[in-house]
Amino acid sequence: MFRIPCPHCGWRNSAEFRHVAERRERPDPQTATPTQWRAHLYERRNAADWTAETWYHGFGCRKFVGVERHTVTNEVRAAT
Ligand SMILES: [Zn+2]
Repeated sequence: MFRIPCPHCGWRNSAEFRHVAERRERPDPQTATPTQWRAHLYERRNAADWTAETWYHGFGCRKFVGVERHTVTNEVRAAT
């Protein structure tokens, strides 16, 4: 377990949250190719490094929270 800083509730146990996805830039719908859409929808970086992620605080404020987390150590350094 590790703790996640929710901007609405403060530092909370990660068991109160559900991991949603890595945060990534969405391609422009007017100009994106099918290959770019497939990559956006299905391909993940899955790096052993810092990642920007979205978590859902289901057992708290029920809002989506942006977090930077190190995938190896579960150290959290930012939330939006
Ligand atoms: Zn919250």
